[in-house]
Amino acid sequence: MSEFTHLQCSKCSEVHDASVVQTVCKKCGKPLLARYDLEAVKEAVTRKDLVGRESTMYRYFELLPIKDRKNIVTLGEGWTPMTPIRTVGEEIGLKDLWVKDEGIIPTASFKARGLGMAISKAKELGISSVALPSAGNAAGAMSAYGARAGMDVYVFMPKDAPKVNIIECQIVGAKVVLVDGLISDAGKLVKGGMDEMQWFNMGTLGEPYRLEGKKTMGIEVAEQFDWTLPDVIVYPTGGGTGIIGMWKVFDELEELGWIGSERPRMVSVQTEGCAPIVKAYDEGKEESTFWDDAETKASGLRVPKALGDFLVLRSARESGGKCIAVSDEELMSDLAQISRTEGLFVCPEGAATMSALKRMLAEGSVDKNEKVVLFNTGSGLKYTGLFDIKSPVVDPAKPFDYGSLM
Ligand SMILES: *Cc1c(COP(=O)(O)O)cnc(C)c1O
Ligand SMILES: [Zn+2]
Repeated sequence: MSEFTHLQCSKCSEVHDASVVQTVCKKCGKPLLARYDLEAVKEAVTRKDLVGRESTMYRYFELLPIKDRKNIVTLGEGWTPMTPIRTVGEEIGLKDLWVKDEGIIPTASFKARGLGMAISKAKELGISSVALPSAGNAAGAMSAYGARAGMDVYVFMPKDAPKVNIIECQIVGAKVVLVDGLISDAGKLVKGGMDEMQWFNMGTLGEPYRLEGKKTMGIEVAEQFDWTLPDVIVYPTGGGTGIIGMWKVFDELEELGWIGSERPRMVSVQTEGCAPIVKAYDEGKEESTFWDDAETKASGLRVPKALGDFLVLRSARESGGKCIAVSDEELMSDLAQISRTEGLFVCPEGAATMSALKRMLAEGSVDKNEKVVLFNTGSGLKYTGLFDIKSPVVDPAKPFDYGSLM
């Protein structure tokens, strides 16, 4: 049984009824967090009970907001590999380096967790029409789960969004509108249609349940390491739901007695072309300000102002972690290194965590004996537009110079 009880504001703590559709706090406009009867969870399930359960994020059903299992809309998301990174680890002097590989998940990005959960909950609450402004992976994930749930799905994207993201929505039947403008213009169009179209806006942290899907990454890290946590988690941050969700669930796990009070240092990575949270961190501010002209190859990190920025900053500061901005040059070079050495075609956002780790090693804020988990949040296969083909084309009628391969 799910022990989900109510929603609570992340800023002012105001309690909200979870049996009806909610968006953000009615009092202060900040994100709402799902709360559980953790005593009841404690009585109902132990860590051992999880062994042998389904290898999806729904193995943690008691800690998730879906009340009736029949409302779950799933493509098998979750329980992704925790891959040891030994060779690159050795090259940079780290003995205990891992990648939590979200490249292997339905729709090829970890947005599947958030939107799979949000669509399931939307179905449970009777929502039949959803809309989202997105420049990328979130749109693909929402379209897929929306299709599976039989919902009407509307996606508003900047017209220069990657072809793969436009097609992945189109192919599963979403109505895709390309906007000759920025993601913020797409957002305005979604808001503008709410009365006439009666759709529900799935924008990041504009509803409480995407976060609950993403928090399962934190439970998996703990379970995959036999209920211990690493010393450092490095996470590529756009809207921040992943890092906020993990930080939230660590407290839930501690209350259950499944982990102790120790926490990883949470490191939030952005790129120099869009680093509002890093800027706020460096300036000692509680919230970020809008980042103009955001531009980066790590398109999942192109979020000029995140609704949950203050929660990301809080998790970095409370955990003794930090916020770091890396350049596109660094992350593309690290993408090549990880791919070539480990056979792991990571996405640019995932590669950015390696660049951040190298900087931390250089400045001494990570020790070579520490256990570090990098998050690869998607598959590099969704980003082939960033790469050129390097192979020469040969004429099969002419003798081939095999020596040229050596
Ligand atoms: C959306 C996205 C991110 C950022 O995730 P948040 O949890 O919103 O910070 C990182 N990587 C990829 C591949 C993404 O699609
Ligand atoms: Zn509030």
